[in-house]
Amino acid sequence: MKATCPECYFEFDVEGEVMIGEIIDCPDCGVELEVVSVDEDKVVLQTVAVEEDWGE
Ligand SMILES: [Zn+2]
Repeated sequence: MKATCPECYFEFDVEGEVMIGEIIDCPDCGVELEVVSVDEDKVVLQTVAVEEDWGE
């Protein structure tokens, strides 16, 4: 299935079954993306807000 990264607009193929809520890494920019909907042949993704760990 096709997916497009909302950050860098890179289009890539997602292999296998994809479920809503699943996290996928963009193969181009490496950002974490959450599956928000799955159409017949297209996966819609949104950026996951990464909680930054500032350490101590
Ligand atoms: Zn990307």
